[in-house]
Amino acid sequence: MNVAGAYAQESMRYPVILSSRWFHPTSPQDTLSTIRMVELYHPDRIDWMYCTDAKQLAQLQARKVPYSLAINPQVPDSAGYTVHGRVEDLNGRKLAAPWMRKWKLKNPYWGCVNSPEFQKVFLTQSYKLIDLEAYGLFVDDARFNDHATEWGGCFCDHCITGFTTYLQGNGADTLKSAFNYRDYLRSVGIDSLPVKNRQVPLWANYRAFQTKSVVRFLTNWRKKVEDYARRPVTFLTNNYGGQWTEIYQIFDIGVAELPENRLNRNYILARTSEAGRLNKKQYFTLSSDDESKQLKALFLTYSTGSALIIPWDVYVHTKSQDSATRYYGNKQSFQPIYNLFQQEVKPSSKTTLKARNLRIASMVQINSNVKRDSISVYEYETTERKIIMVEAISSTKKHNITIKKNKTDLIEIIYPTLNKLTSETSDSSINVQFQDNLLVLSINNK
Ligand SMILES: [Zn+2]
Repeated sequence: MNVAGAYAQESMRYPVILSSRWFHPTSPQDTLSTIRMVELYHPDRIDWMYCTDAKQLAQLQARKVPYSLAINPQVPDSAGYTVHGRVEDLNGRKLAAPWMRKWKLKNPYWGCVNSPEFQKVFLTQSYKLIDLEAYGLFVDDARFNDHATEWGGCFCDHCITGFTTYLQGNGADTLKSAFNYRDYLRSVGIDSLPVKNRQVPLWANYRAFQTKSVVRFLTNWRKKVEDYARRPVTFLTNNYGGQWTEIYQIFDIGVAELPENRLNRNYILARTSEAGRLNKKQYFTLSSDDESKQLKALFLTYSTGSALIIPWDVYVHTKSQDSATRYYGNKQSFQPIYNLFQQEVKPSSKTTLKARNLRIASMVQINSNVKRDSISVYEYETTERKIIMVEAISSTKKHNITIKKNKTDLIEIIYPTLNKLTSETSDSSINVQFQDNLLVLSINNK
């Protein structure tokens, strides 16, 4: 059911998705455990996991947790290294993604989608993941060559001849087949890329050629994987910021890494709605180690009909990237909320009201003195609890909200954390002052 942006009244279950980038523990010293997380959260599935160990995967199969398995442009050659069929710069040097250059990876080099050698290793690895009973394949960094054009690639021989053919087929029909873009760029004085403050001749055509190359590569790959599997396979990718470009549209599900500065409901709603229009699914992870922001992301994503991947084993962008930093959220903060969403939930009724209006919900009254602000109220109901999410447009002011309640109602403030608000409770109401633009409460129905 597509609930993106809608507030249907039927009950529904929200998906709970765990991502475990590797199967933990990864060594005897590793105190993390993927299976412990599975037993704690009972996720509907695991996505974006690198694992080729049949014994580890059998533990998930025994617990009936479907998993997608990840593959990326650094799939090694048969000898176990990223040597052949790799993205090359103008001078024939192999290229690693800029953000990975400090990670000290054994296999940093991206494959070139125009290289038959790389096409073969990528397909072979995909078949292997299908044989490991993955319900889907998750391509991590699906932009391949399209992305590499930003760091000066790919100029391998396959791309050079491919580009000449592309130009001939796109208007340059008198162009000689001997045309070599690499030599041409050198002849006009460009000997390394990217260059700043200078037009690179034919660059727009070159980028278009590389985008088309990736689309063709992934389309062929998808078809071959489906033929091989002889069962339905779901195709997932991380689509940065929730964009659905020509390349990402080859996939069924996108997982967007949201930067902190895009953590607002309108953005999430727009991305989720676009996915819905394209008949895709959009989920999110938040690239942050701030617990309160993760909680906020959790409510905002679920309120748009999407979901936040459980904030555990999440990539966090740091300025000094000697290695990828990862965040493992505190289970006491997140597990009860996921548990709630996992139950049969009647999705939110939404009401936007102006300042000083009085909202009469079925159980509570919210009286806000937020001046010239509008606030939105979202409700989620289960048999045990009601969740009320109050969103104010402005995050700069202090908000004062009074919620009328019955004497026996137990109210728990879930967001913001207690050190960021003040509250007073009496038998008939709770008054909360908070400075963030989001307040989330749980009311025990019993
Ligand atoms: Zn190439």
